[in-house]
Amino acid sequence: MSSKSSGIPAKDMDEQAHNLIKPAPKPFLVWKQEIKPRPASRDRSSVPQATLDRLIESFGLIRVNEKRLRESYERGDLFGAAEAVEFGLAEESLWHALQAMILLQVEEAGRKAAADLRRLLRNRSEKRITKQEGVAGEFNLINESSVEYARQRSASLVTRITADTQATIRDLVGRSFREGRTGEQLARDIREVVGLLPRQATALVNFQRKLEQEDRAPAKIADLTEAYRRRLLLQRGRMIARTEIIGSSTQGQQEVWGQAVEQNLIGPKTQRVWIDTSDDRECPLCAAMHGKTATLGQPYDNGIMGPTLHPGCRCTEGISEIDTAE
Ligand SMILES: [Zn+2]
Repeated sequence: MSSKSSGIPAKDMDEQAHNLIKPAPKPFLVWKQEIKPRPASRDRSSVPQATLDRLIESFGLIRVNEKRLRESYERGDLFGAAEAVEFGLAEESLWHALQAMILLQVEEAGRKAAADLRRLLRNRSEKRITKQEGVAGEFNLINESSVEYARQRSASLVTRITADTQATIRDLVGRSFREGRTGEQLARDIREVVGLLPRQATALVNFQRKLEQEDRAPAKIADLTEAYRRRLLLQRGRMIARTEIIGSSTQGQQEVWGQAVEQNLIGPKTQRVWIDTSDDRECPLCAAMHGKTATLGQPYDNGIMGPTLHPGCRCTEGISEIDTAE
């Protein structure tokens, strides 16, 4: 993978969350900034449509070996039936889609972090930034460690997505068997739930069964089920992508901060702060992290290096105190 460094457009400055407040007394040379919790914002975690499309397309590449499925199921081998699903193509496609998305986001977040940092340094001291102007803009945003992060992160995500999908299929096979559905019906049902989480699949199957009981025309049932399935897949794709976008942002920021330390722009004791959303959709785990700080390269007191905390987490982090030790 090639590496490249990017100049930072001085105008690319994100005004939110970085209001400089009282500088500390001179000898310490520590600058604090007030970081406010972010309001629940949709744009920060909005997912590009192309990414969503690719994720959903990838789910569509999960293949059911129908012959094996029916044969196993009809002789009561539920385990074998659940194993009759092939993930190879889907995994490969997911892996590529996720890697591309993660790397893009690491780069984007790194560029923003560099612009923010540059502004913080400039605000701190006109003199100092003049001295540093020449080096303050050189950050290598796509480098070995960001590529490695994207590679590992997407691989473990694919593993998790496959495991979730297998659980969904095992649930459905068991349910089908209890309900006395035929192998053919099961094969059709499985095609409908691949890609969904177990609870989403349960919701979809419940919905479909209800339509069946209402004695609607099969074509109408198929249409309604398909529309619902599509909505659930979008939900899942969005959840995966949003979580990864935030996680990649953390990676991109930390990369830039680490490089800033290497370049002596900031000291290693620079503090970062956990920024939660403080809204009514926030979970207690994230709320507990409100305002917690950690120095660069160190974990927070929950042992975690930075957001995200869990799938669907909307937390981020920022720099709260610059260490200018020299
Ligand atoms: Zn969170």
